[in-house]
This record gives sequence, C-alpha cells and structure tokens, in this order.
Amino acid sequence: MKSNAPIPDQRPAQPSSLTRPGARSGATCPSCGSARLTSLSMTLTDGTPVNFSSCHNCEHRVWADEQGSLAFADVLTRATKKKVVS
Ligand SMILES: [Zn+2]
Repeated sequence: MKSNAPIPDQRPAQPSSLTRPGARSGATCPSCGSARLTSLSMTLTDGTPVNFSSCHNCEHRVWADEQGSLAFADVLTRATKKKVVS
C-alpha cells in the first residue's frame, strides 16, 4: 500500500476576467459583484418594458426599467394593475 505518485498541486485558477472592457454597466451583481447574471427583458402588463437580472451567486434580483432600478413592490403593482381576479 505505497503510493509514490506525487499529487499535482492543482488549485482552481482565480478568474481574472470579472470586468471586461466594453461590458455594459450593471453587468455585475450589485450585491456580491459576481458577473454571473441572467438578464431577461420583458414587458409588464401596463406596458412598461423592464429588465430583470438574477444573480447565480447570491440570488440577488434586480428589476430595472429604462430610468433605472425599480422596487420590486412597484413591479408587482404594475404587473398586477390590469389583472382581474374574481
Ligand atoms: Zn450576487
């Protein structure tokens, strides 16, 4: 039970490309700084175009319209404005 095989020292390389030139602002998570964001564009029921970003690292979520960030409560208000629940 001898193992003379040296174990290679393999450390995970630190990603050094978190900030890429030409990347649009807001491409990183405002909470943890991760670049692993999923961005979706959608239109709310009141016609407001919004962009939804979700962070894969910390699950921070950002809603934004063309004017900037939106409060989630505001998104809910807009999204349910024209819905009829009976
Ligand atoms: Zn994050």
